[in-house]
Amino acid sequence: FEARFNIPHLTDIFRDTLPIPSTFCLKMRTPTEDFADGYPSDEKWHGYINNNDRVLLKVIRYSSPTSAGAECIDPDCTWVEQWVHRAGPRERIYFKPEEVKAAIVTCGGLCPGLNDVIRQIVITLEIYGVKKIVGIPFGYRGFSEEGLSEMLLSRKVVQNVHLSGGSLLGVSRGGPNVSDIVDSMEARGINMLFVLGGNGTHAGANAIHNECRKRRLRVAVVGVPKTIDNDILLMDKTFGFDTAVEEAQRAINSAYIEAHSAYRGIGIVKLMGRSSGFIAMHASLASGQIDICLIPEDFLQKTNAKDASGNIVFGDIGVHLQHETKKYFKEIGIPADVKYIDPTYMIRAVRANASDGILCTVLGQNAVHGAFAGYSGITVGICNTHYVYLPIPEVISYPRVVDPNSRMWHRCLTSTRQPDFI
Ligand code: ATP
Ligand code: MG
Repeated sequence: FEARFNIPHLTDIFRDTLPIPSTFCLKMRTPTEDFADGYPSDEKWHGYINNNDRVLLKVIRYSSPTSAGAECIDPDCTWVEQWVHRAGPRERIYFKPEEVKAAIVTCGGLCPGLNDVIRQIVITLEIYGVKKIVGIPFGYRGFSEEGLSEMLLSRKVVQNVHLSGGSLLGVSRGGPNVSDIVDSMEARGINMLFVLGGNGTHAGANAIHNECRKRRLRVAVVGVPKTIDNDILLMDKTFGFDTAVEEAQRAINSAYIEAHSAYRGIGIVKLMGRSSGFIAMHASLASGQIDICLIPEDFLQKTNAKDASGNIVFGDIGVHLQHETKKYFKEIGIPADVKYIDPTYMIRAVRANASDGILCTVLGQNAVHGAFAGYSGITVGICNTHYVYLPIPEVISYPRVVDPNSRMWHRCLTSTRQPDFI
């Protein structure tokens, strides 16, 4: 059984949806260049990727159909393969560079590497010959809020932005509805949109893509997954994660030193990952200074509150643990000196390390190649060490979490020697 992900292509708009108003067809197709065939790329890019090239995402040989479970559609088959589209420049492109107005938007929270991705998108667009490149300020809000004007971007503007953390464009949560965003894009003449953000942002990007499709607009919407928590499905890793783990170690080391220097000292460090404990698990494994690592897969206290984007606000686990630890030791008559460190904002704001910098560069380049290739409603990622394009719905159907039965979590337990609380 072979499972394939099909990624949406702009030509689908014209192939699948009938009837197509003939005036629209005439406008889209010039007599000499049929849109369905695209245009030859002027840039050689040291070789092209064929649209039929695939990367093997997953291959599992199950011992029996039962152990394959829902993964095998064919009851007699135990062989599961998943293939994804290989990312990179195509020989035929679906936009004339002089007709492109590209926009970049960054949404959600900060993550190391945002500026690196913005920079590389701008540089690659310029190599294609695009002259009109703008940044939308402060996330999707920049499409609607008065007083927020587009930021003109060029190689000169972005040359050194990767040397600092944060986002050159600013970020935000919440904002206008999808229809208003597409209205604004139409009014501004934007036909390529690069969206940097997490699962919420990608849900938005997919909705924008669908709305453009509904309106039969030739607009490419391409996402670059930004999740410091590494909670996006199918990818080996997302940018910023490596930097976050490295930075988290520094906080752990400080807490360790504080705890060891204090009389009956205990150090507690709260790390990011609202529902996925990858940063905590990896930082614990890397630091070797941890006695107990708790991940949200262990325990979660929900509240009824929601943030501007509609995400549920969780209780503050760090403050709760600090309070309960103090209370416990006081009750047993040996008050402990509890030092609590919450390095969240310090970690999010640092610049990307070398390995994340390289990842961002390649993702940024491939986002632009994907848009020029005519794909839309896609996101870029690294799978099995190869760069690929994935349909957005596949990567955001649910957040990736640490499997408490996995070998990795058991390695973490072994390294800390903590009991298995589950
Ligand atoms: P982070 O990992 O930092 O939380 P995120 O992309 O998940 O990043 P959110 O605040 O959840 O961050 O969402 C970012 C933007 O996406 C917001 O402007 C929000 O309005 C929009 N958004 C979220 N979910 C949807 C959705 N289902 N449809 C359309 N837009 C959405
Ligand atoms: Mg999110």
